[in-house]
Amino acid sequence: MSNGEKAQSPNYSVFDRRIRKLQKKLARQPLDSKRRNITRIKIAKLHNRIADTRKDFLHKLSTKIVSENQVIVLEDLNVSGMVKNRKLARSISLQGWREFRTFCEAKSEKLNRDFRVINRWEPTSQVCCECGYKWGKLDLKIRSVQCLNCGTEHDRDENAAKNINKVGIGHCHDSKRTRIDRKTTSVAS
Ligand SMILES: [Zn+2]
Repeated sequence: MSNGEKAQSPNYSVFDRRIRKLQKKLARQPLDSKRRNITRIKIAKLHNRIADTRKDFLHKLSTKIVSENQVIVLEDLNVSGMVKNRKLARSISLQGWREFRTFCEAKSEKLNRDFRVINRWEPTSQVCCECGYKWGKLDLKIRSVQCLNCGTEHDRDENAAKNINKVGIGHCHDSKRTRIDRKTTSVAS
């Protein structure tokens, strides 16, 4: 987040590893056997546990973020592109980023917050949030950057979050103007 806070998602991989193991077992079991049915139910239960854990985590996180902020800016990530990276596909899918966005959007509406999503083509991880210097694309493995221009050391995600915040706020001139207009009319009336 742009204030430097990080959210740690639950470790889904424990359940996920068990699912994969059971799925291999299932593939070897005869189609009409009772044991196959037991395995099938075990797998379904594990899927449910992952979904429940995730939903609980995303609900708590989105409630916290939306209640503590007037403006919420998210970045529209190219998830289908990222999922093509086979090493990351499973863990990304388990995170439920779309679900998180839906929660934030719904809660923002309920609490009258300003919810914005910025364009995925915005180079939020390629630019220094302090001086604007563009260092270009970085491999996902690189987690911290020192700016060649101003020397600031950044955590990769925090720098991107600050840029997302800047871009999101940058688009708000219009809504600012309308808010002032509204005030003027209420005074006049
Ligand atoms: Zn810089």
